[in-house]
Amino acid sequence: MSAAHPAHHGRSIELMAISKQWDSVKALDGVNISIPAGSFTALLGPSGCGKSTLLRIIAGLEVASQGKVLIGDEDVTRRPPDKRDLSMVFQSYALFPHLDVAENIIFGLKTRREPKNLRTEKLQAVAELMGLEQLLHRKPGELSGGQQQRVALARAVIAERSICLMDEPLSNLDAKLRHEMRVELRALQQKLGFTMVYVTHDQAEAITMADQVVLLRAGQVEQIDAPRALYERPRTTFAARFIGTPPMSLFEASALGPMGRQLEKDAGTNLLLGLRPEAVSPAEDGLLKATIAAAEFQGADTMLDCLIGNEKITVRASGRSAFVAGSAVSLSFAPEELALFDKATGARLLKSQKLIETLRS
Ligand code: ADP
Ligand code: MG
Repeated sequence: MSAAHPAHHGRSIELMAISKQWDSVKALDGVNISIPAGSFTALLGPSGCGKSTLLRIIAGLEVASQGKVLIGDEDVTRRPPDKRDLSMVFQSYALFPHLDVAENIIFGLKTRREPKNLRTEKLQAVAELMGLEQLLHRKPGELSGGQQQRVALARAVIAERSICLMDEPLSNLDAKLRHEMRVELRALQQKLGFTMVYVTHDQAEAITMADQVVLLRAGQVEQIDAPRALYERPRTTFAARFIGTPPMSLFEASALGPMGRQLEKDAGTNLLLGLRPEAVSPAEDGLLKATIAAAEFQGADTMLDCLIGNEKITVRASGRSAFVAGSAVSLSFAPEELALFDKATGARLLKSQKLIETLRS
């Protein structure tokens, strides 16, 4: 990726046993992450889990209480932000209201005293890249939210840093624009080849854009994986619940009747079972006898909330099907789609031969 665009050689980032403690708050606790050069890494997790703190430590805006930050192979743990060769975009992107778009974009280059002809050349290239050519002489107040955000991105990109850090840059935009910007951002990062670290609490953003997703929970790494692996093989109930709209259904083994009891006996522990909504389907004589508690028509799909006793299983059915709330339904699933979690610890269990045999029976 980066080889084709030498202007932006991405550099790798290594976070080694990073902890951050304020008086009473432990924001980060022993975080280890490898971010490959030229990759797009998303830091994902609920509000307060430490995403921004971690990004600020990479930036050099905060210093870790413990641990090391390497960029390339250099230890930058104590190096100030302006010596780390990175650019940043935050949710509040703060354009200068009295400067026009062109002046806003090149502001950083001016303070770096780049020659004027070089600035103009770079401005043209970036404006074209971001589709801002027609807007260069407008003031930020004369732009839509999406256009303003694009200017903020252009300002970050024109600096040609090897690393770009973004903290929830799209959260002020409406859903349609957010989707467009997601696609644009990803394309831009791939084209230019810089290393992207992107903070979001929105799992869909992380899944659609990133090469690697780092799921954080209460200051610790819960799981690091490529989007597909995170979706298909969440290693904990927390990860299973966090990824997917709607997320994986988690339910007591009792919902499977005798087979559920046998699974718990085989595993030697109490279980939570997991099924993605698309792994379950209404069937003539399915194993599971359920009641439809709610049927939500979404167009292509209709999401069914099905109850077996007190246990809820969400089913993605065709939008053309005609299920109604209150009716009975029988459900089937492919045994290999069933995820098994230890109920006490939330950890995923590998399926032993015995468990596989029980599932097939
Ligand atoms: P996120 O970005 O995932 O929402 P943050 O990194 O902002 O989470 O915050 C992580 C935790 O650290 C929170 O409990 C937050 O209140 C705390 N925190 C963040 N910044 C400070 C600070 N400057 N002083 C004290 N506590 C802080
Ligand atoms: Mg934050």
